[in-house]
Amino acid sequence: MIIRKTAAQIEKMAAAGAVHARCMKMLTGMVRAGVTTAELDHAAEKFIRSQGGVPTFKGFRGFPGSICTSPNSMVVHGIPGPCELRKGDILSIDVGVTLDGWVADGASTLPVGEIDPTTARLLEVTKEALDLAAEQMVPGKRVGDVSNAVQSHVEAAGFSIIRSLVGHGIGQNMHEEPQIPNYGTPGRGPEIETGMVFAIEPMVNVGGPDVFTGEDGWSVYSGDGSMAAHFEYTVAATDDGPLILNPWDQS
Ligand code: MG
Repeated sequence: MIIRKTAAQIEKMAAAGAVHARCMKMLTGMVRAGVTTAELDHAAEKFIRSQGGVPTFKGFRGFPGSICTSPNSMVVHGIPGPCELRKGDILSIDVGVTLDGWVADGASTLPVGEIDPTTARLLEVTKEALDLAAEQMVPGKRVGDVSNAVQSHVEAAGFSIIRSLVGHGIGQNMHEEPQIPNYGTPGRGPEIETGMVFAIEPMVNVGGPDVFTGEDGWSVYSGDGSMAAHFEYTVAATDDGPLILNPWDQS
């Protein structure tokens, strides 16, 4: 069952989203050569708790970090630690914030200094795919419209959609129905109704679509070692159209 949220509940999710967006902006400002992913994790946890929130990922199925930090060919679910960022790296930062029992989820992939042109294009295309998908969160459209917006944009650029990882409904739980694949057919899948809130999250490899899980049981890597990007918003479908609840890239 897809849980629809009332306008008042969406306001609560937007409050969680505002904390999320400010946390992401803070982390974005910290990303540079020499910083460790543990430092980002500590700063995120401190900030989220200072706002009365809880870092949603901490302890989720035993996850040890407050955020996920996934460099280079690591797609998602990286555990923060002593890994020091270097010039030319990219880093995906995924943050979950629970505030007053409501969750906001979102991610961005950031360059560390200057990066090579193909990797820069990967980041650009994956973010564009997220924006195009978010525009589909309109009552009367279907999940397949969201999915296809990601797929068509990414594949036209020659990159690969990761099919084994998907977005999700979100609300009082981080993961609710339905699943939001990053590939699909327009006009297919569950109908989007007012009050539905989805975490839309394109995950894209420069090379082939395969991924594998690392020895820590969490980190997911591109199968061929190629660079991987991940961007995510929490988006509500409203009568006035799509509403991004954690607009981390807007001032
Ligand atoms: Mg998510």
